[in-house]
Amino acid sequence: MQRTLKQTINFEGIGLHSGKIVKMSVYPAMADHGIVFVRSDITDKNNVIPAKYDHVVDTKLCTVIGNDAGAIVGTIEHLMAAFAGCGIDNALVEIDSPEVPVMDGSSSAFVEAFDDAGLEIQEKPRRAIRILKEVSIEKDGKRASLRPGNLSTFIGEIDFDHPSIGKQRYEVTLLNGNFRHDIAEARTFGFKHEVEMLRQMGLAQGGSLDNAIVLDETKVLNKDGLRFENEFIRHKVLDAIGDTALAGGPIIGTYEGEKLGHELTNLLLRELFKNDDAWTYEDSYIDAGNDTALSIVQNRAVKHLAMSS
Ligand SMILES: [Zn+2]
Repeated sequence: MQRTLKQTINFEGIGLHSGKIVKMSVYPAMADHGIVFVRSDITDKNNVIPAKYDHVVDTKLCTVIGNDAGAIVGTIEHLMAAFAGCGIDNALVEIDSPEVPVMDGSSSAFVEAFDDAGLEIQEKPRRAIRILKEVSIEKDGKRASLRPGNLSTFIGEIDFDHPSIGKQRYEVTLLNGNFRHDIAEARTFGFKHEVEMLRQMGLAQGGSLDNAIVLDETKVLNKDGLRFENEFIRHKVLDAIGDTALAGGPIIGTYEGEKLGHELTNLLLRELFKNDDAWTYEDSYIDAGNDTALSIVQNRAVKHLAMSS
């Protein structure tokens, strides 16, 4: 079934690029509402931006969505991943800035707040997107695909010529809330020389060792090191989960990305929805964000329905 939050959550944090304090409230929303952003600081034009793949307007440094009036909101991917990972279908996100607060560079602050607020099960089934036929996209030596499968599986691979990263591959199937411990805490990362370049361009003003893993030419600079040995690829998979959530529902199938990033994943979704025979909507009872007890109850309900029909 679809789910929303039991109560409103207020976040306050720094914007990665502006370096300014951002206020953001996440409100419960009715069934079939989806995830929608509203820019409360924009009052002279349409300030509503649906979190959909076809509203993505920029993917260079983060995922930015926008509407026809030119209202935008960026750095949505870690929040979107938290919604997907916790199985939240419907929410209204009110924000007073063009970027979602970066928090600690991962999804963990969002997940913790969602768990504290509690989730409300709604009366309508969740509408998932089942992959029927493989679609793939290639660009500049990067590759991503979606292929049929019975669960929501994400596979990512990166290969960085850096002693702390190297080649990393990671696979996860979203089930029973495992996003919380396997993915949510993995932080974004960047290289010191890139951060310095962005700063000179007036970007990454809020970027620090408090909200990213930062590497110099040979090592990780964060005092406490990494949260996972392969935190880099786990974060790339987190981004892919957040970016594919812009499909408008969970994907039943396997996502695989090599040298994956925001642009590649968005191009892949656009390719998917161009091919009507490659996917179909399906009422889903698989729940990425469920705890085990809840999914057992749901499985019983599904079996019961099957037996009684
Ligand atoms: Zn990220």
